[in-house]
Amino acid sequence: MGRGESPLAMLRPDLIALSPDDLSAMANRGLVKRAQKEIESSDLTAQWTEGEDGTICAVWSDQVTCTLPGQKTLKDAKCTCSSLELCRHVLRTVLAWQRRQTDSVSGGKTEPAAPVAWDPGERITDALIDTQVIKTVRDRASTLWSQGVLAELLRSDKPSARFHYPGHTVRFPVPDDIRYARCSCSDQAPCVHAVLAVRAFRLLPPDMSSGIVTEGPVVKPVPPEPLHAAEGCVRDLLTDGLASLSTAWRDRVRRISTECDEATLAWPAQILEELAEDFDHYSARDAAFNPAQTARRSGELLLRIDAILSGCAPVPQPFIRGMKSDRDTELGAARFIGLGAMVTETLSSSTISVFLQDCDNGYVLALTRSFAEDPESATPRKPFHQLARTTAVKDASLSLLASGQLITQGGRRTAVGRLVIGRARAVVNPQNYAWEQLKAPVLVEDFAELSARLRLLPPASFRSRRAAADFHVCPIQSVEQAAFDPKTNSVIALLCDPSGRHAFMSHPWSERGQTGAEALLAALSSGSKPLFVAGHMRTAGSKLLIHPTAVVFAGESTSRRCVLPWLDVSAESAPKRTTTSGLGHSAHSRYNAAELLAADLILNGLRRSRSRHWPGWARAIHETEELGCHRMTAILRQVQSESEDTRSVLGMLKLLALAHDVG
Ligand SMILES: [Zn+2]
Ligand SMILES: [Zn+2]
Repeated sequence: MGRGESPLAMLRPDLIALSPDDLSAMANRGLVKRAQKEIESSDLTAQWTEGEDGTICAVWSDQVTCTLPGQKTLKDAKCTCSSLELCRHVLRTVLAWQRRQTDSVSGGKTEPAAPVAWDPGERITDALIDTQVIKTVRDRASTLWSQGVLAELLRSDKPSARFHYPGHTVRFPVPDDIRYARCSCSDQAPCVHAVLAVRAFRLLPPDMSSGIVTEGPVVKPVPPEPLHAAEGCVRDLLTDGLASLSTAWRDRVRRISTECDEATLAWPAQILEELAEDFDHYSARDAAFNPAQTARRSGELLLRIDAILSGCAPVPQPFIRGMKSDRDTELGAARFIGLGAMVTETLSSSTISVFLQDCDNGYVLALTRSFAEDPESATPRKPFHQLARTTAVKDASLSLLASGQLITQGGRRTAVGRLVIGRARAVVNPQNYAWEQLKAPVLVEDFAELSARLRLLPPASFRSRRAAADFHVCPIQSVEQAAFDPKTNSVIALLCDPSGRHAFMSHPWSERGQTGAEALLAALSSGSKPLFVAGHMRTAGSKLLIHPTAVVFAGESTSRRCVLPWLDVSAESAPKRTTTSGLGHSAHSRYNAAELLAADLILNGLRRSRSRHWPGWARAIHETEELGCHRMTAILRQVQSESEDTRSVLGMLKLLALAHDVG
């Protein structure tokens, strides 16, 4: 890494490796900023003493003395000021010492050496763990390991391990040193997860820069009976339709859901529960009932059942089945940072989802509110920013929550990642958008890490059913080419990250969301420095595509401001769009006809649909063929001709669920 020239640098690789961001994570951003200013101002000087064991001592001209003992970490640094925490004097000692090193090696002329990827599994040996981790933590790690792990690993210059099971994310900012490992848990470093992470890295083939590894009971086989029974429920649903099914069907679905849950099949259990709820909503003529959604759920359940029974899916089984951690959890006192919001619309409802990160463990949860809409009504629906005035928590509106922070004394985290406050005490305050303090892996370092993470993400029907599985926050450096694009009817922009890589951002323009879209475009074109983007992110080919829920910009002096593309009220100086095309729903699904048919089957069942010659039948087949979807056309024909066999209908639902994932 080109750092071998100075003998002292070889003694203190930790101090060389720590970036300002790493220091911020150990102390806080404000202190690091002040320390940086102090050494740049050149009002201060220091007298340096450097010991042979790597001990560094700086006597500063403002009467403080900092000692960084050799063989120890920065946490053991001492300062003559009275602070008990890592103080700014120690921080400035590190920063000034780093500068001295670059100066002494290169005369300050060269760029810092390019980051080099390393592997904690290889470089942090068991012998090193024995000396750097206390025995009780090592023992606990062995116990946890024997209960099974599922981890997503990235080898980079700051490698990281995200444990889907048993939870938490670990980063290694300093090469070969587990003492600096930083975890999302609140234990003292190095924690038990750091040890697990080192062992997990040893499972990843050496030629891979990233991947998912599993070990232990989380991948052991499950009994097939509840899954066959679950498929039977879907068959009966399709044969008879909700219109003919009785509460006996619903009760059976609930019973099999419990059986699945007991067999550690958390996601199938949950989908069955949702199907039982669909039955109740349908029976109660509830506006929230949507047969297309029931069809999609059924398709997802069938896909998961196939993948679990075959046992050879390209995705780890625990993702497809769900894990013990994928259950409802009661929350204690917690603080959440608002990361923006998005709106989804259907014929009969509009839903606002606010995304929040739990400051403790880094989970992103969604708090949602649905508004019933009358599909028949001729009056225009309310603009999104008006809906967002609805109370979310106590006196705070949805938009305040989306851009603020929430402090609760309780509540519940549901298996799918919803936050339910209930009657718990809660308050919403403003936040200062110090998003560099958010937790990984929701916070990524740059677009390269984001791409690596998204590549590891399975299609929706096979992944965790949490609402925010593809939700991330990424630092951005600049905005290029922000514009309204009449072709796609959206606000688009090219974003550039701190390492110069690009990602494409797109936000749909709609009548109801006009003010937010215009506020976004105005901010992007204003010349304000962009700092962070939050939202759902995915890869399309080699490109990154971001659907923002919030964008943070630098404001006056040190302040920051946040734009909510879905909910903001208005922009001061929005550039006027040149076109005013209608609603933004141009791209209808290619499988629209098949979706309508599936919805009809869910309601009326195969038997009745066929005997009463569903009127859309011929048109559905024709339209699907016209669009060149030959596989789906063939399946539709089979569905039409088969008498009692449900096999092709099941195939149709699976294909629709997959198409929905990809679209
Ligand atoms: Zn101090
Ligand atoms: Zn930990």
